[in-house]
Amino acid sequence: MRIKRVATLAAVAALTVGMAACGGDSEETTGGDKDFAAGSTMEKLHKAQKLRVGTKFDQPGFGQKGLTDTPEGFDVEVAKIIADELGIPASKIEWTEAPSKVREDVIVNDNVDLVVATYTINDARKERIAFAGPYYEAGQNIMVKADDASITGPDSFKDGSKKVCSVTGSTPAEEIKKYVKDVGSQLTLFDTYDKCRDALRSGQVDAVTTDNVILLGYIAKDEGEFKLAGENFTKEPYGIGVKKDDADFRDWINTVLEKAFEDGRWQKAWDNTAGKFGAELGAAPTVNRY
Ligand code: GLU
Repeated sequence: MRIKRVATLAAVAALTVGMAACGGDSEETTGGDKDFAAGSTMEKLHKAQKLRVGTKFDQPGFGQKGLTDTPEGFDVEVAKIIADELGIPASKIEWTEAPSKVREDVIVNDNVDLVVATYTINDARKERIAFAGPYYEAGQNIMVKADDASITGPDSFKDGSKKVCSVTGSTPAEEIKKYVKDVGSQLTLFDTYDKCRDALRSGQVDAVTTDNVILLGYIAKDEGEFKLAGENFTKEPYGIGVKKDDADFRDWINTVLEKAFEDGRWQKAWDNTAGKFGAELGAAPTVNRY
């Protein structure tokens, strides 16, 4: 009996020592309980315990800064999921404002580690950076004042009488040029959507065009003042921008997204943010591992 008890204690002690050694090893070589390849971006970020994220600061539901220093929204939550998978707490994320026009620049210039900012995946952008995702599909739409019945879709700009605002460096700013009669007099471009919303409010323009979900955020926030005019007329698959040559990091983020699609974190992130503004999340997209 006594012999048996001593033997059991010895076995427990051996197991404890083994576990400690194992934990110690993994701390040095793989970064705690995270098993990242040596030299990978994931390992570097985990070791540094800091993630630099570019996002929007003025888009309700996706990335908006309120009274605190931390932005809130669906994109912010997606970034937090990635940070969590890197073993980095949300409090260690460094948020940088990344308006539409500067998104490729902040990635190329290494000001951020990734961009999650209502960022449509397209080939022109892929010449400078790479995208993980998509993690959502939006579509371009038009926002007008609630009592305006004269604009019903992009064709309403064809006669040259209506003015529209969008943001420099965005896909909707390019797309709407196909519909306006005279770009110079009809299209106003600012660096952020807040400025477009203000221009619509003051009557400087008749409409704002960008992704439906961004516009729905403004419509919800400025209750009763604005509405959508018509249906979506493009597809805007949202991706996460990373450095062009970092295929490992891109692939790893794709796997994180797939995991979050499956385990409910993606849905929860949506429900707590942009999902409150009337847009559908839809089925989980298929990530594009190009
Ligand atoms: N998704 C579009 C884009 O990436 C419009 C939204 C934005 O400007 O962030 O250009």
